[in-house]
Amino acid sequence: MKVKHLKKWKNELITCTMCGYCKNVCPTFLDIGWDSGSARGRNVLAYGMLTEELEPDEVAALRLYQCTLCLDCLRRCPSKVNVPEIVEAARADIVDAGLATAAQKEMIDTVKQAGNIYGTTETRVPPQEGDITLFLGLEHLFSHFLHFLLHFLRLLCTQNFLIDQTHY
Ligand code: SF4
Ligand code: SF4
Repeated sequence: MKVKHLKKWKNELITCTMCGYCKNVCPTFLDIGWDSGSARGRNVLAYGMLTEELEPDEVAALRLYQCTLCLDCLRRCPSKVNVPEIVEAARADIVDAGLATAAQKEMIDTVKQAGNIYGTTETRVPPQEGDITLFLGLEHLFSHFLHFLLHFLRLLCTQNFLIDQTHY
């Protein structure tokens, strides 16, 4: 399997000394009990994918998806290896390879059908296509900033600028 997103993390991956300081703080390792369910184990999986020595299967994908991205490994790592970012890059490559989980595939289908992750058809905005999606959300918390931001975006965008609101 060719990787794309993991390539930029090669230096970080070879910086990992396998010291294991990240291991006993990793909540998924404490639950799973196997090294592949720990931060350094995920480094090994990612390195194997990067060097093409490992063809990830559903179990390897699951171990990478099980990371909670809690950042505790990064906080503990003496070499400051950014395991959470490495995990995210590995996940992106795994999705590109079609190894999404059943739950993820179901969510993708839901978004395609309903235009949102909840499967509700109550939204007023039909599914749109574009280069960039900007979810602003929680307007009531920062309405002044939101209006300023929308005004600024309108000035920048000369075409295909869609704005609408969804209420639940
Ligand atoms: S603490 Fe850092 S260097 Fe040590 S095993 Fe974990 S990621 Fe690798
Ligand atoms: S970010 Fe992931 S790998 Fe790191 S400690 Fe948390 S669950 Fe473990």
